[in-house]
Amino acid sequence: MIRRLLERRRYMREHNWTHAHLSEYLDQDLSPAERERVEEHVSICPHCRRVLRTLRRTLESLMDLHGEPRPGLADGVIDRLRGEP
Ligand SMILES: [Zn+2]
Repeated sequence: MIRRLLERRRYMREHNWTHAHLSEYLDQDLSPAERERVEEHVSICPHCRRVLRTLRRTLESLMDLHGEPRPGLADGVIDRLRGEP
């Protein structure tokens, strides 16, 4: 029981951390250890996997349009996915 609770807490911590760092992950702004942390969580979290896939697809289509990635672009996309202004 306690083990499950601790696992749940760890999961939520990793979930929040990953969600907050997805844009840096896609912008290649994370250290190798941080990238690994994102990838490890994404491999067990369907929600983050879906957000990451959507983000990546959106960024790719935007890059197709503009020919080059724009800094900070992922942040705006994440805000939109969260439903914030
Ligand atoms: Zn997650």
